[in-house]
Amino acid sequence: MRGAYGVVVSGLGAPARIEPIHVDGPGPGEVLVRVVANGVCHSDLWAIQHGNWGSPFPMLLGHEGAGVVEMVGDDVTHVVAGDPVLLVWAVPCGTCQPCRRGRPRHCAHGWDQPPRLHTEDGSRLIGTLSIGSLATHTVVHAEQVVPIPERLDLAHACLLGCGASTGIGAAVNTAPVRPGDSVAVIGLGGIGLSALLGSKLAGAEQLIAIDRIGSKLDIARSLGATDVIDAGVNDAVAAVRSLTDAGVDVAFEATGLASVVEQAVAMLARAGTAVAIGVPAPDSTVTLDWGQSTDGAAYPAKITLKVTDGGDPLAEDFTTWLQAAADGRIDLGALVTTVAPFTEEAIAEAFRAMLAGEVIRTVIGFD
Ligand SMILES: [Zn+2]
Ligand SMILES: [Zn+2]
Repeated sequence: MRGAYGVVVSGLGAPARIEPIHVDGPGPGEVLVRVVANGVCHSDLWAIQHGNWGSPFPMLLGHEGAGVVEMVGDDVTHVVAGDPVLLVWAVPCGTCQPCRRGRPRHCAHGWDQPPRLHTEDGSRLIGTLSIGSLATHTVVHAEQVVPIPERLDLAHACLLGCGASTGIGAAVNTAPVRPGDSVAVIGLGGIGLSALLGSKLAGAEQLIAIDRIGSKLDIARSLGATDVIDAGVNDAVAAVRSLTDAGVDVAFEATGLASVVEQAVAMLARAGTAVAIGVPAPDSTVTLDWGQSTDGAAYPAKITLKVTDGGDPLAEDFTTWLQAAADGRIDLGALVTTVAPFTEEAIAEAFRAMLAGEVIRTVIGFD
């Protein structure tokens, strides 16, 4: 098709440029989607700087999109042209080792984007996390497309394509948070605040939100945090311990800093669970003090450290969360700081504001 544009990154560390792209029609089991809204996620920047999880460049940026089905290939039955849909990278692939061994929540996301997207000079484009939704159009596998309830704003719904589903899933699937639990969330970006929303949904009683930016602590309070800690002026671990009996049942790390994984473990109560959600640099090392939370006992306090790369969802989880958002039980709108136009300037500004901690999410709107 003609008239399609996308953000193309030609190589590792290369600038993100909006270029004309060629989009072929969908093959069997594939769906062509016209993108309406796309959230700018930290992982887009990570992929530019560190690589697209093993896929070669050039890369079509973006992986947190929602849009409208333009065309479906043969054998696609769950959506038709005109349906509003969410694009999801974290849905089980069915082909990786955990999927084949009956553990789809531990999927390695072995999706390979259909070969329908090309640059002007004919090079194959592969989307970030095999989605490529910072573009007017993309083609994905049918399994990566989830129908969106009619009354949900696509500029809000798109967050469930990555940030919101990662945080909510970390709480309800990975940890999982149980009714009555005490929970701490370190790092209140889109993912951390979503972990807070997910913990509330799961019935957590005490919700401690931790960040260095006051405005984010305010948003956390408005979303249900019972306590907030300014990590710029307080020792987060000591502050959590003073707010709880002996630490929290669940602690989420949502900063992408290895040192914060250590903090999350250090603030756990006996038999607590820390969940690392962020994406640290590949050469990071996490060091855990064997005796740190023993309080004089001979053994460490039976803590668990889990790692998630997308909230460990099944396909039906996305449907559940989209419905919860449509019903008002998950406030996705609170996570959208601004909706910006599809321009190189707006995307550069979205990255700058994200790194500066000035926004929860910038959503790029295509209409
Ligand atoms: Zn898999
Ligand atoms: Zn993401």
